[in-house]
Amino acid sequence: MRISKLLMPTLREDPSDAEVISHKLLVRAGLIQKTAVGIYNYLPFGYRVIRKVENIIRAEMNRAGAQEVLLPAVVPAELWRESGRWAKYGKELLRFKDRKEAEYCLGPTHEEVITALARAFVHSYKQLPLNLYQIQTKFRDELRPRFGLMRGREFIMKDAYSFHATQESLDAEYQNMRETYCRIFAACGLQYKVVQADSGNIGGSVSQEFMVLAENGEDALLACPQCAYSANVEAAVSAPPDSRIVAAAQEAVREVSTPDKKTIEEVSVFLKTPPENLLKTLVYYYKVNEKENHIVVLLRGCDQLNEVKLKNYLQADLILPAEDSAVVKITGVEPGFCGPVGLKNVRIIADELVKTISSGVTGANKKDTHLLNVAPGRDFELKETADLRLAQAGEKCPHCGAPLQAIRGIEVGHIFKLGTKYSEAMQAVYLDQNGAAKPFIMGCYGIGVGRTAAAAVEQHFDANGIVWPPALAPYHCVVIPANVQESAQMITAEKIYQELLAAGVEVLLDDREERIGVKLKDMELIGISSRVVIGKALAEGKVEFRLRSSADNELLPADSAAQTIL
Ligand code: ATP
Ligand code: MG
Ligand code: MG
Ligand code: MG
Repeated sequence: MRISKLLMPTLREDPSDAEVISHKLLVRAGLIQKTAVGIYNYLPFGYRVIRKVENIIRAEMNRAGAQEVLLPAVVPAELWRESGRWAKYGKELLRFKDRKEAEYCLGPTHEEVITALARAFVHSYKQLPLNLYQIQTKFRDELRPRFGLMRGREFIMKDAYSFHATQESLDAEYQNMRETYCRIFAACGLQYKVVQADSGNIGGSVSQEFMVLAENGEDALLACPQCAYSANVEAAVSAPPDSRIVAAAQEAVREVSTPDKKTIEEVSVFLKTPPENLLKTLVYYYKVNEKENHIVVLLRGCDQLNEVKLKNYLQADLILPAEDSAVVKITGVEPGFCGPVGLKNVRIIADELVKTISSGVTGANKKDTHLLNVAPGRDFELKETADLRLAQAGEKCPHCGAPLQAIRGIEVGHIFKLGTKYSEAMQAVYLDQNGAAKPFIMGCYGIGVGRTAAAAVEQHFDANGIVWPPALAPYHCVVIPANVQESAQMITAEKIYQELLAAGVEVLLDDREERIGVKLKDMELIGISSRVVIGKALAEGKVEFRLRSSADNELLPADSAAQTIL
């Protein structure tokens, strides 16, 4: 492609709403454009990256024996009523009516649709196992869409669903998918970890997440430095705590329960929950100063919450639904942060609060009031999350007993053993060898396509822009004549460009009438994997070649440059 003909709207400034590097760079490089909160256009270069991720996924899923389908994005409420999720899913589900007042939602995930599909066509054990997948646009009305493609409301997901007659068959497919996911993320050039996960809104018993390790990751993980154990803190189990952890937790509970100064034992008796379950109690909290006490508390492991009683007991402003086993106490925080939200969202809110005050703005104890130019450390003490504190205090690995380490990750993929949750609820059955009707045993397997691309940027960038892993780069090479007015340069550039093109290289020709500095900056920002500059060295019959990932130029003979690069 000739760049003069391309839509390539690179920007000099970071977008004002961008906090993380992938969001900043994807917008600045002209790969995506915001249409509405959490809703993006994929511009030509951005869409090429998306297609590359999709094609890696597609190739590996096909190789693993799964079959591609495409299900509707608009899903009738009826199917969601059958599974029972219409009532349960909450506000993330975007619901609407058609002209006949029939109810629909935009699918956030497709267990219902696929279960109905299998119910219609799969009648015998002989047709099993079966794995169907799609790559499709999902919609989730996220509480806090942010970070560009990482947490959008409209986003592209690969979702696969498998159907089985036996648990062994599901186990084998789960393993097959686990290995397939490892191949996919490795092919995308990502450093990742597979962790034990919580099954969240999807349900089922066993699940694992694929986490791309990155400082900006929204998920807190505990990893064992000695053995393979690692888990999302949402799901982490740990060895019996030692006395230091008990002390840390006690201190934490005392601090957050001011002015009542409830001890962990008192809270434990009240919640009828053993103290060890409360040890991960304090997830986030911070103190602004003695007077303005902003506190976020999240209690986990409390199965039988009596919401009203507990609210009074802890003097909490907000108690979360019992289903989430969580309590939140938010004192003096901007009212906008409060609301009936799920466990996960509380984590996000808490994260957000800490980030907000870290960036110099904080809520005050008055409605709609903020304090500006606040500096953590100077104006208030910013406490670490208790996850980290507890990990530092030596939370032990349940397998080998080594102290767990706290790290952060981006959830790019998630695999679940669903069992018969959906097939039983929706009466999706097959006939076994004896002619008996049995519900399908199911698995499901998701990958965030856009999030994977964003995660790749979080792991691969430098001061000048994105350094795409070559498998995801929008183009592999750009040929740049330093001055398009110099006909010798243009002729050589055109020749090298044509040779690379003929050899099947994804190559660009930067034929713009721009200064060479501007051209190089653009190509570095976008992360094109390599460049050939035809400039002064042409006088000696040479051109300059450089990989995006390198700081050094290599001089190549102009005549054979294309052959050398290939
Ligand atoms: P999260 O914990 O980040 O909210 P999730 O657990 O709700 O994600 P799943 O239901 O497991 O997500 O969906 C499968 C995959 O879809 C996730 O692993 C992630 O890669 C991707 N995904 C989920 N929500 C979003 C989103 N809002 N924007 C982009 N990708 C998403
Ligand atoms: Mg979610
Ligand atoms: Mg999750
Ligand atoms: Mg998940």
